[in-house]
Amino acid sequence: MLVVGGGPVGMLLAAELRISRVRAVVLERLPERTPHSKAFGLHARSLESLDRRGLVERFRDGARSWNNGHFAGLDEWVDFSALDSKHAYALLSEQTRTERLLEERAVELGTEIRRGHEVTAVRQDADGVEAEVTGPDGAYTLRARYAVGCDGARSLVRREAGIAFPGTGGRVTARLGDVILPDRENAPMGMERTERGLLFCVPLDDTYHRVSTFDFQAEREAGAELTLEELTGSLREIWGSDLGAHSPRWLSVFTDSACQADRYREGRILVAGDAAHTHFPVGGQGVNLGLQDAFNLGWKLAATVHGWAPEGLLDSYDRERQGPARTVLANTRAQIALMNPDPYVTPLRDLFTDLMRREQVNLHLAQMLSGVTVRYEIEGPEHRMLGDFARDLELVTEEGPRTLPAYLKRGTGVLLDLAGRPEITQTYEKWSAGVSWAGRVRHVQATCAGEPQLAGLLVRPDGYVAWAVDRDQPEAVVRDSLGTALATWFGTV
Ligand SMILES: Cc1cc2nc3c(=O)[nH]c(=O)nc-3n(C[C@H](O)[C@H](O)[C@H](O)COP(=O)(O)OP(=O)(O)OC[C@H]3O[C@@H](n4cnc5c(N)ncnc54)[C@H](O)[C@@H]3O)c2cc1C
Repeated sequence: MLVVGGGPVGMLLAAELRISRVRAVVLERLPERTPHSKAFGLHARSLESLDRRGLVERFRDGARSWNNGHFAGLDEWVDFSALDSKHAYALLSEQTRTERLLEERAVELGTEIRRGHEVTAVRQDADGVEAEVTGPDGAYTLRARYAVGCDGARSLVRREAGIAFPGTGGRVTARLGDVILPDRENAPMGMERTERGLLFCVPLDDTYHRVSTFDFQAEREAGAELTLEELTGSLREIWGSDLGAHSPRWLSVFTDSACQADRYREGRILVAGDAAHTHFPVGGQGVNLGLQDAFNLGWKLAATVHGWAPEGLLDSYDRERQGPARTVLANTRAQIALMNPDPYVTPLRDLFTDLMRREQVNLHLAQMLSGVTVRYEIEGPEHRMLGDFARDLELVTEEGPRTLPAYLKRGTGVLLDLAGRPEITQTYEKWSAGVSWAGRVRHVQATCAGEPQLAGLLVRPDGYVAWAVDRDQPEAVVRDSLGTALATWFGTV
């Protein structure tokens, strides 16, 4: 397996492949991890997923968390503490730290990471994928069965695969600098909307501030590097003062372009993370969205490589992950519209701010930004949990008290038998007798006082519910639907 790009998504995907015993090579063009963080935070669904791999404490260790977030820089906060989640907060984890922790995880599991290796071309045939790579010792060709482009917004892999990347935007220019401000005490804090644009200003540490201007008017030469002069000029224009910004350690410029790959798979080539979708970084959603791509794709790709993937499993990656990206692109476009400095937008902002004081509206936004409303369309007997992320069920098992996430650490599926129904055991045993490695689904007999009606639950390795039945379901329905679910998600060979 080739993973092109060793950003957060590539590193997590490689780790997810390794946990499923697939050899993955990460090709990353940067010789060293960048010291500059684009993203700052991890949202609830990312934390819940990391928890299912036993990783969340590494991320929480020494990191601060926020109960609040913003939507379009409006005056009312989005309250993450209202989420129905064990992780009802946003974790402050700079992207460099997130990348380091994910890289450490990938390396621990035995991933080969080649830094300073740039992929310059990718082609595929019926049996595999071939990448042209330029490394420190020169050019070479690497062949693998599949390749995943985790190579960011300008993805070469996506282009080489002929995957289109349609979208909108490019009208708002954001200029960003991690700079020193002489008067830290009186520096603006957070997001400020002026008649000319927006200013974003937050302290990063005891020395640096992150300062950004969002310019809704100026045309700019595409691809030109941002200079301190251009940033301070933009600050003066939008904020009326350049805040004395100096000594930048990082300058970056980006736009509001919001694009999405028209398909996430072309034959043996797939795309994930920013290579599959980009948008304006409002609401801190990009890394989180990409990490969920990796959790969704890793086990499906591993199953395909091991030869037990049922028909359509790999294609379900595209089907399931397009929707969440569309939602994120839509909400970032909505935020851009609300951030427009045009005075005609002000009453709309006021109205929206007022709406956000309503509990339900605020909760809706918190759920949307933190990704916890994502659920997949999965066939099976109707059940409130079907397709949703499995909760942190408190179980009592033969081994003692356990929570459901404990069974997902190794990246396998889990079948919970909560009512001692013989047809669940019999169906599982029949299925496992016919497959090469039944360990891909762990069968656990348990009780769950918190879910007295629930009789059985089949959870995929990414934590989503593939099958659920309550105690009132007749035996034949349980037997047939469980057999179908096992075959659909975990194969028959
Ligand atoms: C200013 C800013 C603030 C942001 N804030 C947040 C936030 O708070 N929260 C959030 O969730 N998201 C945020 N984002 C978005 C987030 O940074 C991205 O979504 C995230 O970096 C995507 O991760 P990725 O691994 O898909 O791609 P990238 O991080 O872009 O990584 C791609 C990697 O591929 C490598 N690569 C590229 N081409 C090749 C090649 N040909 N060969 C080998 N290697 C290659 C690159 O060197 C890079 O390391 C922000 C973005 C910006 C610009």
